[in-house]
Amino acid sequence: MVFEKAYAKLNFFLDIENKRPNGYHNIVSVMQSVDWYDEVYIEKSVSNEIKLVIDTKSIPVGKENTAYRAAAKYLEAISKDCGVAIEIRKRIPVAAGMAGGSTDAAAVLRGMNRLFDNRLSQEELLRLALSIGADVPFCVLGGTKVVRGIGEEIFPCETSFPKCPILCAKLGEGVSTPEAYRRLDERYDDFSNRAWNESALKALREGMMAGDAKMASKGFFNVFEGVICEIRPSVTEAMNILRENGAYAARMSGSGPSVFGLFETEKEAEGARRKLVERGAMAKICYPV
Ligand code: ATP
Repeated sequence: MVFEKAYAKLNFFLDIENKRPNGYHNIVSVMQSVDWYDEVYIEKSVSNEIKLVIDTKSIPVGKENTAYRAAAKYLEAISKDCGVAIEIRKRIPVAAGMAGGSTDAAAVLRGMNRLFDNRLSQEELLRLALSIGADVPFCVLGGTKVVRGIGEEIFPCETSFPKCPILCAKLGEGVSTPEAYRRLDERYDDFSNRAWNESALKALREGMMAGDAKMASKGFFNVFEGVICEIRPSVTEAMNILRENGAYAARMSGSGPSVFGLFETEKEAEGARRKLVERGAMAKICYPV
């Protein structure tokens, strides 16, 4: 039996550079894993099946599940005629923009590679990861990374993000990722008349190099925020609660609805967490990992 922590992801920076002729968006993102994690347990089984158990009823456990697909692809890649039993204890909010499904898939790939004596190289794992979803390769590696292309170009940052309290929260319903992209396309067409926010990324990088979270947060940016806040007022409301309760920076993660705020102290973050929970949010004080 192996155990993996499947860490959630935040986007400190998320923009679209341009669109490929096939309609895929080339992103520029700074992704950060945080210590809000699903617990993933994997063991070899005698049957040839993949058996998945999740403690959350709304999530499918068959081929639609990212963790199931990861296991199937891994077994196929090593041409192994055996099965696995996977148990996931879900903690990360579902459909929130925190890569819950992607990180479970990544944890299964990492865990199965441990279970099967590291049969695949990291490069092979990352290739399988990309075939499951754009955020999965990042989730295999974790930490603080610059991610480009459709998620396949991953660059380490010179420094990791300073260890400050980050309050993550999901308030209200989100929109699906394809719907979020559709709305962006409506606004920016093929993105040829729009320059991506390179200056913000530079500010973020400089702040990180200085080891200063407050300075780095000046470069936080999310291209989805405009289109999502228009149709999901709860996202704006959650960011306002963060700011009114001491966050020096607040942003949406991914295509929402989850938001995150940076605080000087955990005590302040705890005050904001209570306010968000009173309002009906799922919220947790996290640290970068
Ligand atoms: P991302 O940030 O990568 O866009 P997300 O955090 O917005 O992802 P998920 O939590 O991955 O969204 O859930 C999106 C959908 O995927 C849900 O409707 C869910 O039913 C489905 N799904 C499939 N596999 C999983 C999984 N292992 N965990 C959570 N959701 C899953």
